[in-house]
Amino acid sequence: MAQFLRFFIYVLILGVLALWLMDNPGMVTLTWFGYEVKTSVAFVIALLICIFLAIYILRMPVKFIRWVKKSFDAQKEKSKENMLVQILNAIACGDEALCQKLAGRLDKTFDGKTPTPLLLKALLNPSPEIYRRLAADPSTELAGWRGLIAEHQKQGDLIAALDLAQKAFHKYKNIPWVVLSTLELQVLNDQWQDALETLEVVRKLKLENERLYKTQKATLLIKTGKSLEAFKTAPWLPEAALKAAQDHPKKAESILVKAWENQPDWNIYKAYIHLFSKENTLAQYKRVEKLVSMHKTNRVNHLALADAALQAKLWGQARKELETYIASYSLTMQVATMMAFLEQEENHDLKESQKWVDQMKNLEPTVNYFCTRCGHETDLWSPTCPVCNGFASLECL
Ligand SMILES: [Zn+2]
Repeated sequence: MAQFLRFFIYVLILGVLALWLMDNPGMVTLTWFGYEVKTSVAFVIALLICIFLAIYILRMPVKFIRWVKKSFDAQKEKSKENMLVQILNAIACGDEALCQKLAGRLDKTFDGKTPTPLLLKALLNPSPEIYRRLAADPSTELAGWRGLIAEHQKQGDLIAALDLAQKAFHKYKNIPWVVLSTLELQVLNDQWQDALETLEVVRKLKLENERLYKTQKATLLIKTGKSLEAFKTAPWLPEAALKAAQDHPKKAESILVKAWENQPDWNIYKAYIHLFSKENTLAQYKRVEKLVSMHKTNRVNHLALADAALQAKLWGQARKELETYIASYSLTMQVATMMAFLEQEENHDLKESQKWVDQMKNLEPTVNYFCTRCGHETDLWSPTCPVCNGFASLECL
């Protein structure tokens, strides 16, 4: 459309000019090195048009050569693309011999200047030596570093892995695996402050959901001594509440109540009841009743009530809570211990009590947390999963 409009304007201008020249057939005098030529304006314009036409015609072979070259290059690109598709297909089929054959051919097409054969080796038969060679070439250094970081981690050399990850992070700040790997290695090397800075990049790139980001931030804040800030960031993280309550005794009660409201947890209950250890056990039981009323159905409610009832010698209430727990959840070592204590204290029934003690031998220890990444279960909270190294991946059961 724009081209047509332009053409129309040109024709219009030429038409107006021709009409004007027909009405005003003026003369032009040209003087050059003493020569004088007299001619009409129309002749000068015709001469100029001829010169433009000649230039246009003379440029045609050049344009043709360029067009041929462009077509040839496009053809070459197409054949490279086809070859890459064939290589990827051979990789997917696991045909190493075909891969290497195709890689050699592709290398020739690129005048032997590409690292394709080396990259293919890294994909099919990776080794530290291949990774080192990839790392030496700026065009493939990141692939090399990735392999070497994994190698260092496999060998347990977390410092070397972190050094390399940070080198990669410095240069390739927007690549997800680089950022996440740097964060994980900083955590594993106890570099809490650096990890806090890297975590902000993780958030900027939206690599994790907001809840995980906040849990991770709170974990790092605990480790840098900012427990109250950690609790405000992730009130559902029991460890943050426990540390904040410990560091700020005057706020401890409100912190622990709010923490329970967010996430009932056995350790929160223990810390809460410890605040009132000077009160009589019946008053403590009343407090626990109030605390658990915040969550109608929760596994820990029964445990907390049973424990407080046992302390207050409210045997009936303790038995009711423990029996409800056993009927609803699986029997744990903690519950069996409480049952043994109950039988001994309430009925002085040593035989019945021994039955529960005997059962304890076959039960797993108490589990408070599980790893959302690998499923590992543990009674102790830690910033990273002891099995898969997942950062802030332990959640309350
Ligand atoms: Zn794990």
